[in-house]
Amino acid sequence: MADKMKALIEQAEKDLLHTYNRYQIVLDRGEGVSLYDVNGKRYLDFVAGIAVFALGYGNREYNDALKAQIDKVLHTSNYFYNEPAIKAAGLLKKVSGMDRVFFTNSGAEAVEGALKAAVKYANTVKGSGEHDVIAMEHSFHGRTYGALSVTGNAHYRENYGRMPGSVKFAAFNDLSSVEALITKDTAAVILEPVQGEGGLTPATEEFLRGVRRLCDENGALLIFDEIQCGMGRTGYMYAWQKYGIRPDIMTSAKALGCGVPVGAFLMTEEVGQNSLKAGDHGTTYGGNPFACAAVCKVLELYEKDHIIEHVRETAPYLEEKLQALADRYPFITERRGRGLMQGLVFDRPVSDIIIKGMDRGLILINAGSNILRFVPPLVVTKDDIDEMTAILDSVLAEV
Ligand SMILES: *Cc1c(COP(=O)(O)O)cnc(C)c1O
Repeated sequence: MADKMKALIEQAEKDLLHTYNRYQIVLDRGEGVSLYDVNGKRYLDFVAGIAVFALGYGNREYNDALKAQIDKVLHTSNYFYNEPAIKAAGLLKKVSGMDRVFFTNSGAEAVEGALKAAVKYANTVKGSGEHDVIAMEHSFHGRTYGALSVTGNAHYRENYGRMPGSVKFAAFNDLSSVEALITKDTAAVILEPVQGEGGLTPATEEFLRGVRRLCDENGALLIFDEIQCGMGRTGYMYAWQKYGIRPDIMTSAKALGCGVPVGAFLMTEEVGQNSLKAGDHGTTYGGNPFACAAVCKVLELYEKDHIIEHVRETAPYLEEKLQALADRYPFITERRGRGLMQGLVFDRPVSDIIIKGMDRGLILINAGSNILRFVPPLVVTKDDIDEMTAILDSVLAEV
């Protein structure tokens, strides 16, 4: 049996483009917060497919809703309206407080659309010309060219020549560095209210408030990338809602479809009226009935199952347990994050710790080389947190 997994991995390495150094596990199925590999071994999952599977695996109601939509129609194109998209947009407006929705197939595409909307808005309102975008160091916005151009990780951008648009990078949580870059020509400032890939760093309220003010003073739009920190992960549907600092444009993806590939960019009516018009933007699959049936059911279940309340109840427990580990082990230098989006910062690479955890049935991932990332399904319980802590503790005791 063990050879089945080995054979599959060998085949994968022959056929798939090698853009990932994957863990040597072939996952087969999931149930609740557990994943099982093709040999039947169980893992407690504190990754959720990178902050995606908020509702846990095998949610009956969610699965049934998808099956029902498959039997009706999967795809129709954007030449026509479809009911799931209309319903999903309405639900998303309600939980986000934004006014207009465009559905995409991924997070990166949502960022692409957000950037296009911002630049089109600047061209419409400020007049055509060179409009720059200010992004943050250590940010992550996706791997397509436009999204990459605002991603503050030089390693991801090198080798690809000139990036589209004019992008300047400011230091996250350092208002003066934004102030030094912003001008009347700036189209937008884009940032994650809690940086994910860059290290689980929450923006301070002071920083968010200051950036909002600088944008208003310069007629620049504020874009919040809520792809990882949104959808309830911080104890608010969208992280910015904690402070009521509303963006002009917002992106969402990852948990939005809970496994069905779907993203969205949303905007205020003001931006909607003055940016992308008929013919300016499009997608074949974006907003198709299948993806939107997923969004509808996800948002419905968030409300019915009180997902946000559950996060508020369990997240302090996770924080407490992680802080205890950070206090006990001298090689852990810091715990940081918000809600069920937490990181432990190590003074060394964490890859060995992750692999040892997997041997003992725990799935964790990193953010950067020296940060352990905790982004479990949002339905995680205190018992699951205890199980995770016990396994991690046993691994750390051997470091
Ligand atoms: C994952 C992520 C993206 C990219 O989403 P994809 O669906 O992988 O294209 C963009 N922004 C943030 C903050 C993310 O975490």
